[in-house]
Amino acid sequence: MASVAVEKLHGRSWIAGALAESGSNSFHGYSPADGGKLEPEYFSASAADVERAVAGAVEAAPLFARSSGMERAKLLRAIADGIDAAAEQLIVRANQETALPRPRLTGEVARTSGQLRLFAGVLEDGSWVNARIDTADPMRTPPKPDIRSMLRPLGPVVVFGASNFPLAFSVAGGDTASALAAGNPVIVKAHPAHPGTGELVAQIINAAVQLVGFPAGTFSLLFDEGHEVGARLVQHPAVKAVGFTGSFRGGRALMDLASSRKEPIPVYAEMGSTNPVFVLPGALKEKSEALATGLHQSFTLGGGQFCTKPGMVFVEEALAADFTKTLRASVTQSPSFNLLTEGIAKVFDRSVSAKSSLATSVGTEAGAGFAAQGTLLEVKAEAFLTDHSLSEEIFGPVTLLVHCGAAAQMMQAAQALEGHLTATVFATEEDLVQYADLLHVLETKVGRLIVNAFPTGVEVNHAMVHGGPYPATSDGRSTSVGSQAIFRFVRPVAYQGLPQFALPPELRDRNELGIYRLWNGKLESGSHVVESK
Ligand code: NAP
Repeated sequence: MASVAVEKLHGRSWIAGALAESGSNSFHGYSPADGGKLEPEYFSASAADVERAVAGAVEAAPLFARSSGMERAKLLRAIADGIDAAAEQLIVRANQETALPRPRLTGEVARTSGQLRLFAGVLEDGSWVNARIDTADPMRTPPKPDIRSMLRPLGPVVVFGASNFPLAFSVAGGDTASALAAGNPVIVKAHPAHPGTGELVAQIINAAVQLVGFPAGTFSLLFDEGHEVGARLVQHPAVKAVGFTGSFRGGRALMDLASSRKEPIPVYAEMGSTNPVFVLPGALKEKSEALATGLHQSFTLGGGQFCTKPGMVFVEEALAADFTKTLRASVTQSPSFNLLTEGIAKVFDRSVSAKSSLATSVGTEAGAGFAAQGTLLEVKAEAFLTDHSLSEEIFGPVTLLVHCGAAAQMMQAAQALEGHLTATVFATEEDLVQYADLLHVLETKVGRLIVNAFPTGVEVNHAMVHGGPYPATSDGRSTSVGSQAIFRFVRPVAYQGLPQFALPPELRDRNELGIYRLWNGKLESGSHVVESK
């Protein structure tokens, strides 16, 4: 597959493959390193632009829904190739807009193209559609009808990316990849913190759509510095689902908008999480210094701007003197960090100050730009259990160390937790036997339970669950990372009594695609072909 070329930056929305007019409201990206304005100027999409983008998606939807998995796989591979080919350009611009270091962004490019190819592989395999066939039995009383079902796309999907992953959770990130894979046109509301990176990626997607021959309305990118465009999109009657990655406040606002529509639609919002860590006695005894150093690296990685940042840590105080000492020392020696936007830096300062009145803290000096001080907050479990605000996420390089009295208090803290993306337990085998109940409680609170590794770093594969009960996400039955993310943007459709030619190929008697199917309750292998009757 030939890769697609990126043009220059235009500062305008891309609607169904064409540039929008410049409007009246404009904004800029900023360099978090020094607070400087970045060119070009970006124009917010107008109400008419929103209508045109949705109309394009509506027009593209039936054709895109009927396309084969192989055809959509070609599209995803073309986007992935385009991203890899433009890696240097993307890294330079993303670095200017986010101050995330080059090695991190290099990894993010690979992750972004890698997850597009992961979905392409899922489509090429084809079995993901969950084909189920129950054949007719006219002799039964009453006669049993022929019923066949599979997963089908929802229709136009609106995607909101987050500031902290300008590629992997943005314009061609996991939400876009999974929604396109499932057969839905996508309209992205660009994140205003990295407009240039977003526009470069949009051009790659547009070129890939054209190259593979899908309708131009399969993809649009709309800019807006505020919330008007996003709100219009979510409320538009032709939009059928929303994928969101960002703050709890943003996700909740979109959930409320979507559920108050005449036709409520699903919002898959992946929101904030504090990712509790429990360091059990055996692990503290064996490696408290290494754990404290590792924890410091993990909660300050990327300036602490990871949705999986370990934001609260539970230890038995009587056993944790060395651990606490090393952690405090690491924090005081850590450098100043750059946050992604001025807004995030202000909220960080405000939130740390608010919690500092309830907890003790040590931290480094903040430097230039949108800077933040590495901070450790410490609190007794009694205070933690009585003040809910202590468990809320602070986005940035801070963690909360909770000193527990004994095992029972740790369990009490675990039971009081809300939904999070991850929970981590550092433990010896003996600890795991002794604290088996803790693991059972944590399993009810999170999407991913981790033993003896820090939660930052989310592998993109078939088994990953990046989700968790509310408020970590709007729907704890889903994941936004990994191939299972495709199931958010489909619904099951049953076909009763359709002749063979009118059925989707996946459901015809002859299993020409060679996919796994449930045939009269038995899983048939991909190679098994049922003879036509
Ligand atoms: P954000 O401020 O919520 O922004 C996300 C996007 O939603 C932006 O385009 C934003 O537009 C838009 N938005 C926010 N509030 C809105 C509203 N009320 N109506 C319409 N649109 C709205 O989040 P962020 O600061 O970029 O990202 C940081 C947060 O994301 C952290 O809490 C982090 O934990 C979370 N995160 C979660 C995951 C995950 O998978 N769970 C992954 C990465 C990040 P504006 O910028 O114009 O407000």
